[in-house]
This record gives sequence, structure tokens and C-alpha cells, in this order.
Amino acid sequence: MADRTRGTPVVTPEERRAELADGLAAVRARIAAACAAAGRDEREITLIAVTKTFPAADVRLLAGLGLTEVGENRDQEARPKAADCADLPLTWHFVGRLQTNKARAVAGYADVVHSVDRARLVRALSDAAGRAGRELRCLVQVSLDEDERREGRGGAAPEDVPGLADEIAGAPGLELGGVMAVAPLGADPLPAFARLAEVASGVRRNHPGASIVSAGMSGDLEQAIACGATHLRIGTALLGGRRAIVR
Ligand SMILES: *Cc1c(COP(=O)(O)O)cnc(C)c1O
Repeated sequence: MADRTRGTPVVTPEERRAELADGLAAVRARIAAACAAAGRDEREITLIAVTKTFPAADVRLLAGLGLTEVGENRDQEARPKAADCADLPLTWHFVGRLQTNKARAVAGYADVVHSVDRARLVRALSDAAGRAGRELRCLVQVSLDEDERREGRGGAAPEDVPGLADEIAGAPGLELGGVMAVAPLGADPLPAFARLAEVASGVRRNHPGASIVSAGMSGDLEQAIACGATHLRIGTALLGGRRAIVR
């Protein structure tokens, strides 16, 4: 347990299991309320537990609570965690910025890559999936930042998304799943997620099977559900606070 301290008091596995169960119940209640408000069926929503900075032991406890979808944002951390949990029936989502030189490693364990935002990365992932003999589902990450700074958070400009979607759909070893976005920092998430919904529907015109809209984190899952999100990426609200990581 020593490596899980990060300022968090040490808790027994039983206590941790209870904390995670509470977090899960609270998140499920928020999802239910948001779906009711939006007139949507809860079964349309897939909950991904973003376990970055938390140990494999937490992934194991979450799996015991019935969660099957796990998200990570850094290869160095995700790779050993996925190996540690290889016996569990989990789907691994890679949600962070991805360098092309990490594509091979990520293709070894990830089932879904949410952060595909450039053609070079499409080619690297296709090549890596081929070598690994695996099929990777890919989402086009859309930048919803209004200004051009884009804050290094990744994402393709909305006008570049259809072209990238076509590239993924045509790439061996890759399957186009849909789109993903992170709401801009410090702005109202609702108009941003509405914009994402437009981009997603544009992609579906040419690729009707690309139905995934990955949007919504701990602070904005209600707005994401209101705008048609199908996949939520939830860290803090499920697992508790984490120390800010140096980027
Ligand atoms: C960390 C992270 C999340 C989860 O964020 P919370 O606010 O802790 O729910 C979701 N998506 C991405 C891309 C992340 O890096």
C-alpha cells in the first residue's frame, strides 16, 4: 500500500472497496438523474473508470463491483497495470495524448484509443495493430477550444475530423468507433458538447456505425449526457482526488 499514499491515508482493502462502492453508487445516481432529465435510457451510457494515478488493486476492486471499462492516459502507467489485471474481463481505453512512438506499446493492451487526432498517428496505430495481430477501435479526438492555443490538450480541429475519420475507417487493423472530446477549461461545457454532437453526426453521415460519443468527466457528465454522450470517462467522482500530475 506504500505506493498509494500520495497524501491519502492508508486504508484497508475492505475500506477501499466500500469507498469505491460509494463512489460508484453516487456516479450511477447522477447518470440516472441526467438520463431522466434528458429523456434518455441509461443503457445507452457506458461508464469508463479512469484509474490513472490509482493502483491496479483499485482496478481489481472496481472489477469486483461490476465495472468492465477502464481508462488510462499514460502508457508508462497503463502498460504494467493492464498486465497486472490481465486475468480480469476488462476493456482498456487509452484516453491521453499519444505519441506515435508509443503506438506499438499501446496497441499491445488497449482495446479503444480515444485520442486519435492526426493522420500520422492513424498510420502508426494501424501498423502497430497489424504487428500485434489485434483490432483497435479508434475515436477521433475533437478540439473544442475556441482559440488556437488548444493548450496542448490534443484534438483535431472540427473541420479536420471527417478526413481523419475516413483515414481510420480505411486503415487495416483499425475500426472507427466515433469521436471524443474534453470540454475546454473554464468555459461552459454545454455549447462545447453541443458542437461535439454536430461533429459526431457529421461523422455518422459517412460512417453510420461510428456511434460512440466519448464526453463527460466528473465535473460535467450531466451536460455531456444532455448532449448525447454515450461514453463517460470518470476519475475523481469514482476513485477520489488525485495529486496533480506534472505534464
Ligand atoms: C483524467 C481524465 C478523465 C477523468 O477526469 P475526472 O475529472 O477525474 O473525472 C477523463 N478524460 C481524460 C482524457 C482524462 O485525462
